[in-house]
Amino acid sequence: MANPQNTNASWVERDLAALWHPCTQMHDHQWLPLIPIARGQGVWMEDYDGKRYLDAISSWWVNIFGHSHPFINAALKGQLDTLEHVMLAGFTHAPAIELAEKLVRIAPTGLTRVFFTDNGSSAVEVALKMSFHSWLNVGEGQRRKFITLSNSYHGETLGALAVGNVPLYKDTYGPLLMECLTAPSPDAYAAERDESSAQYAARCAQALEQLLIRHAAETCAVIVEPLVQCAGSMRMYDPAYLTQLRALCDRYNVHLIADEIAVGFGRTGTLFACEQGDITPDFMCIGKGLTGGYLPLAAVLTKDAIYDAFYAPYEAQKAFLHSHSYTGNPLACRAALATLELFDQQKPLQSNRALAQRMKSNVESLRNHPHVGDIRQTGMILAIELVKEKRSREPFPWQERRGVRVYQYGLQHGVLLRPLGNVVYFMPPYVITEDEIDLMTQVAADGIARATKD
Ligand SMILES: *Cc1c(COP(=O)(O)O)cnc(C)c1O
Repeated sequence: MANPQNTNASWVERDLAALWHPCTQMHDHQWLPLIPIARGQGVWMEDYDGKRYLDAISSWWVNIFGHSHPFINAALKGQLDTLEHVMLAGFTHAPAIELAEKLVRIAPTGLTRVFFTDNGSSAVEVALKMSFHSWLNVGEGQRRKFITLSNSYHGETLGALAVGNVPLYKDTYGPLLMECLTAPSPDAYAAERDESSAQYAARCAQALEQLLIRHAAETCAVIVEPLVQCAGSMRMYDPAYLTQLRALCDRYNVHLIADEIAVGFGRTGTLFACEQGDITPDFMCIGKGLTGGYLPLAAVLTKDAIYDAFYAPYEAQKAFLHSHSYTGNPLACRAALATLELFDQQKPLQSNRALAQRMKSNVESLRNHPHVGDIRQTGMILAIELVKEKRSREPFPWQERRGVRVYQYGLQHGVLLRPLGNVVYFMPPYVITEDEIDLMTQVAADGIARATKD
């Protein structure tokens, strides 16, 4: 029995009269339906009209163990009745301490210090500021530059935007952003036809070295997204690049910042993507999946040597005075602890292998599709690049909004796909079943067929 006050239509009307949505041209909602979600359970979300959607992109890559997970729910309820929040300056609490200890235990060896922030962008800001400031504290204040990769994404605040390279997000704010040095992305899609992804990665590492030869003395750090440039159309690269990158940062004495916000917590097949290059970065930013998609929390992990550069008898300018009101919020830390415990209980790194293989074999037949230019996969991320012309890989003009058509088709058929331009991708919660994968890939394939027909 539909209560007219509690239908999709009534919520949408109230929404559009009051809200301004992220990453959205609000005018699009004149023709693109906005979907009010009433509840979630596992990989499924349900709207106010009772229609269900399979969350194939983990709600912007955050939800790794499904919606409304009983174990995380219980942990949060317990925390809620104990301590909801206390500031983390001068005070501390068990969830923050336990989480910091746990993160140090599971992170690449040598990352021994944890600084909490509220979201991924602010974690990137912290890593940039800490890198600059630590150089300053050891008498190298001339280092003011950061090196970034083409096609990279590190968030939307001004510092994070400055080290990102996706024109759609960056160009408008160009006049406000610090200048960076840009090295070519080792993106395997850009390799020559007769070149392996490893060979292309080696070529890009050489280009980075040229930049370092000229600019290392004025450079604080190189910042990268390990293995997958997610917001940059899910472009993927060879792990050998990470190993070479670490060697170059050591040889030219600059920091390495690994932004694992999207790829951390098992997404690429290892707990952290850096493990596949067998490296420890100087700073590792984590966020998104950290709380299982429950609460905003992110962190920067770093080494003792960086921490020590700030440690001195009180001298305000030496200390890292960055803070956020909700730094290390106990509820968020508790959600993160429960999420990490699920890694121990459920061993998703193992079970994801079969799921990743299922995604792969399900889309194999799409390889021959005349408008599929590439299918690529790293662990639990699989991306399908739609092109206008298969052989030349000429892209569809963005105005044609092929991806949006796939998105609309998916919604009509109960699957939330949210293509990045012409790239349709899957990044599902780890609790998805094989049957649900079959549904997800079938709807995507049908949507692609429909969206590329004319
Ligand atoms: C999402 C993302 C960010 C920004 O995180 P927010 O929590 O959205 O601010 C930074 N880096 C990468 C690689 C991301 O995918």
